[in-house]
Amino acid sequence: LTAPETAFPTLRGAVAGLPSYVPGRRSAGLDIAALASNESHYEPLPAAAAAVTEAAGTMNRYPDSAAVELRERLARHLGVTVGEVAVGPGSVGVLQQIITGLCDAGDEVIFAWRSFEAYPILVELAGARPVRIPLDDAEGHNLGAMAAAVTDRTKVILLCTPNNPTGVPISHERIEVFLRSVRSDILVVIDEAYVEYAEAGSGPDSLSLYRQYPNVCILRTFSKAYGLAGLRVGYAVSAPAVAEGLRRTALPFSVSALAQKAAIASLDAGEAMESRVAAVKQERARMAAQLEAQGWKLQPSQGNFLWIRADDSLRARLVDAFDRADILVRGYQGDGVRITVADSASNDRVLRILETHAA
Ligand code: PMP
Repeated sequence: LTAPETAFPTLRGAVAGLPSYVPGRRSAGLDIAALASNESHYEPLPAAAAAVTEAAGTMNRYPDSAAVELRERLARHLGVTVGEVAVGPGSVGVLQQIITGLCDAGDEVIFAWRSFEAYPILVELAGARPVRIPLDDAEGHNLGAMAAAVTDRTKVILLCTPNNPTGVPISHERIEVFLRSVRSDILVVIDEAYVEYAEAGSGPDSLSLYRQYPNVCILRTFSKAYGLAGLRVGYAVSAPAVAEGLRRTALPFSVSALAQKAAIASLDAGEAMESRVAAVKQERARMAAQLEAQGWKLQPSQGNFLWIRADDSLRARLVDAFDRADILVRGYQGDGVRITVADSASNDRVLRILETHAA
């Protein structure tokens, strides 16, 4: 029996059209500064590392698929009930549960652009339609235009505050006005991956918005300030019916026992996390001041990263200069360059490169 030469398994159209994943250079070298992914540059919190070591003894067993202990700990931390909490393999995993749980083929998901790159990918994978609304002149969400883009097919709206990659937050008041204007059957996700780095009051009090507007879903992660990017654990807070749906769309056992235990230990070590965050915020302010003195005009960032708006020629020159200096940053075609704020030695290297390219 010979197979016809032309027959070959083909990808779905939505998948074939997705960008290929191009892995960045790994920080394998001795002196490479890994500033491309907004990770924490600190070593794992000792309590989290100890919890992982202990949990490793159970890795012949499946983890608790319902992650009850972690969800209870989160519920206590946030002042909600355990039924309002869903966890997943990173907040990107939870977001995939949200999109696949709510969107049928052809439904629409509205988000600002530029924002987190995974948004359009997850939407297209689900067969839904990404609706990108350009950022305003101050690199923030244009909520008026986002509200105006709502149609009968809109199922989900994604708000990212502070926004990745621009660092600009959305104020509580602006989100509240927005929530008043959109239908209550649209899930409004407030993606707060970087919330720990935001100055108090710069962004929304998302829990109080959630209490007032049950169609709000708060999305957070242990990958950034808590320093658990490699363990993959994130969570959502939403109305119990939505949270229950998210748990149903999750892959079974997708959050390992190591990740669950480390996340619990990290919540318990909140003060240690906060002092690390405070140091990053101080470095962020120091860098912003120096860059301004160098002549750069940047929007203040509320994340653990800085955003340099750049046309493609400047972007290419910057990325190339950083690359030659063994500093990994993230360049975005047509938009600019994002640089993670890390330890002061790495930050000084960044400042030296940028000084030679200042206007
Ligand atoms: N949301 C935003 C805005 C992000 O920048 C990221 C990570 N870059 C995520 C979600 C996903 O992070 P994780 O899956 O590690 O929780």
